[in-house]
Amino acid sequence: LAEKMDQTVRKLRGTDKMTEANIGGALKEVRRAMLDADVNLRVVNQLIADVRERAVGQDVVAGVEPGQQFIKIIYEELTRVMGKDAAPLSTRAAGAGPTVVLLAGLQGAGKTTAAAKLALYVKSRKAEKPSAAAALEANPPPAPPAPTGPPPKVLLVACDVYRPAAVEQLQTLAGMIDVDVFTDDLSLGAVEIARRGLAVATEGKYHTVIIDTAGRQVINDKLMRELRDVKAAAKPDETLLVVDAMTGQEAANLTRAFNDDVGITGAILTKLDGDTRGGAALSVQSVSGKPIKFVGTGEKVERLEPFFPERMASRILGMGDVLTLVDKAEEAMDAKEAEALTKRMVDNTFDFEDFLKQSKMISTMGSFGGLMKMLPGVGSISGQQMAAAEQKLKLATCLINSMTPTERKQPDLLASGGRPPPASPASPAARGGRWPTPRRSCRTFSACAR
Ligand code: GDP
Ligand code: MG
Repeated sequence: LAEKMDQTVRKLRGTDKMTEANIGGALKEVRRAMLDADVNLRVVNQLIADVRERAVGQDVVAGVEPGQQFIKIIYEELTRVMGKDAAPLSTRAAGAGPTVVLLAGLQGAGKTTAAAKLALYVKSRKAEKPSAAAALEANPPPAPPAPTGPPPKVLLVACDVYRPAAVEQLQTLAGMIDVDVFTDDLSLGAVEIARRGLAVATEGKYHTVIIDTAGRQVINDKLMRELRDVKAAAKPDETLLVVDAMTGQEAANLTRAFNDDVGITGAILTKLDGDTRGGAALSVQSVSGKPIKFVGTGEKVERLEPFFPERMASRILGMGDVLTLVDKAEEAMDAKEAEALTKRMVDNTFDFEDFLKQSKMISTMGSFGGLMKMLPGVGSISGQQMAAAEQKLKLATCLINSMTPTERKQPDLLASGGRPPPASPASPAARGGRWPTPRRSCRTFSACAR
């Protein structure tokens, strides 16, 4: 997709308005690419319609490639569908008993693994920290007081009564993270084991209970009935559908079935470490309206992360962080200013003052290296080269700062070789400005360029 996007970007170059004619082809490409990424057809069609409506007729922001702005609209729509922020785990108020999490899903989706991962996540108190997204807000909410005391106690309840190996698997994983497991005679059935497990958790003052359930190869009535019964008995705060990201197109049907028959509060998308594009994420969200709360990115118990819609949108588009770059450009570039600069370049009246203005705009966008990394395909430039380029820009800025205003306005003076001595050192006016009084901190170039 990144390649196709590049073509799209090129096609839009030089346009100042997005029209049906100049984005129609690009939209088709995006549509095909999303289908390739296993996004559900209905979801894709809705998304394309939304993007078209927003893009057509929109003016192109000064200083931004129209193609990039187009991609940004797609990206924003993708993010909107997936929910804007990371959704935290619901927890029960202190004193109201343990928080109960029920995991559901097909066989092999990663439920048992996710149960252990989630236990570790809760235990290491990551669930109590404000999300990274919240921390990035303009007015971040005050951080809660640092938790003290022993880590929250988590109980895993083994309710996969069909595969004894599943119980052992859960016990092995729990042993690795030092978390308790509740098991009982499998012939009691899942509902009774869940009930007993909860009683133990309440009595033992556990913070969180995570119930691992059986899966099936395919969705069937017996599985759904059992899940409904366990849910009725356990009254979970969260019923999370565990979805294998490789499920692709099927993820939509799967989500619909579990949401209609059992009722889910969110999902965990597993195996995102594979080469899947993650289209399943879009399907889950748009079919159920429920957020993806976590993603699994490996077999190890540590490999669980909160789900960030923005990152997933970038992954689906396969676009590095070009969108953040567009954002930064929009912030840094004063549209009018940019227009004036461009005009001066075209008229051949671009002088050193203009150069200074432009490099200042670039530097307000962050470090060179950071900027470059956001561009797809620029990974091959080394950090050293990047730092050298940045250094050169600083040095140039410094050199220009040390010139007289006249010199800055008339770059041709440089070609005439050497500065004429000031006519009268006593008269500042004759000097054309403040030079040669030491200016700002530019005593030596090396100090300045640091
Ligand atoms: P369950 O049948 O739903 O309980 O699935 P399991 O938890 O037993 O997982 C099935 C297989 O998928 C196991 O081999 C896991 O190690 C593997 N697995 C689970 N989550 C992930 C993940 O996020 N990434 C990868 N690569 N493998 C995973
Ligand atoms: Mg299992």
